[in-house]
Formats: sequence, structure tokens, C-alpha cells
Amino acid sequence: MNIHEYQAKALFEKFGVPAPKGAAAKSAAEFDAALASLPEGATMVKSQIHAGGRGKGTFTNGFKGGVKFCPTKAEAREKAAAMLGNTLVTVQTGPAGRKVQTVYFTAASDIKKEYYLAILLDRVTSRPVIVASTEGGVEIEKVAHDTPEKIHKVIVDPAFGLADFQVRELIFALGFAGAEAKNAARLIRNLYAMFWETDAAMVEVNPLITTPTGEVLALDAKVSFDDNALFRHPEIVALRDLNEEDPKEIEAAKANLSYIALDGNIACLVNGAGLAMSTMDIIKYFGGSPANFLDVGGGASKEQVVAAFKIILGDPNVKGIFVNIFGGIMDCNVIALGIVEAVKEVGLKLPLVVRLEGNNVIAGKATLAQSGLALVSGDTMADAAQKIVQLVA
Ligand code: GDP
Ligand code: MG
Repeated sequence: MNIHEYQAKALFEKFGVPAPKGAAAKSAAEFDAALASLPEGATMVKSQIHAGGRGKGTFTNGFKGGVKFCPTKAEAREKAAAMLGNTLVTVQTGPAGRKVQTVYFTAASDIKKEYYLAILLDRVTSRPVIVASTEGGVEIEKVAHDTPEKIHKVIVDPAFGLADFQVRELIFALGFAGAEAKNAARLIRNLYAMFWETDAAMVEVNPLITTPTGEVLALDAKVSFDDNALFRHPEIVALRDLNEEDPKEIEAAKANLSYIALDGNIACLVNGAGLAMSTMDIIKYFGGSPANFLDVGGGASKEQVVAAFKIILGDPNVKGIFVNIFGGIMDCNVIALGIVEAVKEVGLKLPLVVRLEGNNVIAGKATLAQSGLALVSGDTMADAAQKIVQLVA
């Protein structure tokens, strides 16, 4: 789960990670109060969307920049009005962009130098890794590609936590000394505490900055959490912004289905993540393109199958449906009954190919045959995949 920058900055404050003072506004009526809470002088106006690259983004109405430096508060008010309610396209949003529903005002900082700092989970060592670089404010992927020697990594042993020598290693790598070193050390320790205690998946600060007076501040904040640990953090779940999520994925989560929307046109309804992956592969292999990953799980109910079908049919890109079930624990007839019921409820104007195998398959096939549904059955996975690819071509 992702949160907005302004929410991440509130968590930073709670954990003692210094950041510029800021205030968010969800409507123009809130601009004045938000601006009044900030010190006089230059102000940043920052579009709040769950995507990076906002500074270099462009709004669909032509307005340039989702992050703006404003010398006066009057100008900040003006720029915020230009952003709010409009759609911002950045390298991370895709061409459709994201509608800005909140703007965040912050006291503008004087930047001496920009750095990069992030904490995430390293999948190779299964441990938290702190990634730091003197090349901040730019795309870290580009730094990693062009100048990998400028990326420093520290792997943390979760049983011991972040050790002092590791903090010193990072401080040294970033070239901090004096007050800056002290401030950066405290910031890194507190950021790690936040990462750990909130079960974050990633905490990225790009840029981390130093100011001419020796402060070290988190200027930007991108934070995401491990969904599997959210049950431990109701206060974080409360930060969820459903406007930023695919409505189909929200529906799927409610029905306890693992669903990820993709950009192809063959919808898949499968049980088991492994089979779902190989179903997508085989569709590709035969020249098609999957519209989603959908795992109804090992023991799905009829209701879940109905919900899954409705989600699939709600995607306007879908041109055909491929049901691929291997009944191990799953009863094939439950799937068949779910399909029949879903089609009764929502109709079916698209080609449907079904491949059922395993537990109670005879009853499942009988249910489908008796339903009078215009479906095509596939004998094997390869046969079924070829059929659906042909039908949508
Ligand atoms: P992003 O474009 O989505 O990564 O948004 P950022 O919050 O990182 O802002 C984009 C850029 O604006 C930063 O990399 C900074 O260079 C600049 N910026 C952000 N806040 C300030 C500030 O307080 N003062 C100054 N001078 N520049 C800022
Ligand atoms: Mg940034």
C-alpha cells in the first residue's frame, strides 16, 4: 500500500525525521488556512499523487510542473489552484496520468546539496537494505546504470538492527562532516526505526538535502507498506487513498481475490498463483496478451467466482475470457456453478474458453454443458490457450 508525500511527512515527524514544515489542502477553500500555518517567504506547492517525477511532469491542460517553487504565498495560492483537480502526467503515471486531489504546501528550503536515501527490502539477502548516493534529486535508476560506484548499500541484520558502524559507513560514503554528519546520523537512525516499526516495504527520500545552515532534511518522501502486515497497523490503513487505486483491484481485494490488471485483452480466471503465472505465459506463447492476473485461490466459493467474473467483465479492454482451473483442493463444479451464475447475472457477449481438470471435473463439465452457455472447452492448457487466442484475434 502506498501513501501520499504529506502523509509520509507526518510519519517522519512522529519518528523524528526532519522535513520542511508543510500543510495539505483538498480544496481551494483550505488554501488560506494551510498557507497561514507556514512561515512567511518562499513556498513549495506539491501535487499529491502516488507517483514520482512530479517536478518534471506536465498537466493534461498544458500547465508544466507538479512541484513548483513560489517566492510568495499569493503565487503559491495561484499555482495550487492550477494543479488541484487537474491531471498530472509523469514518467511514473503512464500516459493517462493521475488527478490531483490534494496539494501540499511546504516552506521552501535553501538547498546546499541534494542526496539520495532509501530503505527497502533486499530480496537477495532477505534483509533491509539502505541505499544512499551523493547523486540526489535525479532518477536513481539512471545513477545506478551510468555510475554504479556512486550507489552505496548497507545491509541491515534485522536481529541486531542498524549498527552505529553502519550509520558511520553511510555518513562517510555521503561525505558528511561536523554538524551535518551528526544530523544525518540521527535522520538515518530514525528513518530506519520508522521503516522497521511500520512494516514498510520502502521508504525513499529523493532528495535528502543539506542546507547552508547545516540542517539535513527529507525534502521528498515516497513510502509504501507491506500489505501482509497491514493488519498490525490500523493507523496506516486509515491513510489509504482509494482514489489512487484501480477500482477493479479494490473490488477484488474485497472478495479476497488476488487480481492485478494488465494491459492485454484476454482475461484469465485461474486457481493458484503458479498456474495463473503459467496461464499468462502460455497466452503470450501463442501470440495473445493477458488482461490480468487473477488467482481465485485454492478453495474459492461460488460467490468469489461470480465476483471474479464481474471484475473481469468490467474491464473494457477484455475481448475474451480464459478459465483455467486445476482442481486440487478446488472443486471444479464450484467453479462451473459460479460461471453459470455470473453469466446469468451479467450476461456474456465475449468468447469464453474453459479448461477444467481435477477434483469433481465430471460434475463441473456437466454443469457447464447443461447450462446452455456458448462456451468453448479446451482439452489441455495448450489447446485452450490456442483457442482463446484465435477467438480474440
Ligand atoms: P518529485 O519530482 O515527484 O520527485 O518531487 P520532489 O519533492 O522531489 O520535488 C522535485 C524537485 O523540486 C526536487 O528534486 C528539488 O530539486 C525541488 N524542490 C523540492 N522542494 C524544494 C525546496 O524546498 N526548495 C528548493 N529550492 N527546491 C525544492
Ligand atoms: Mg523526488
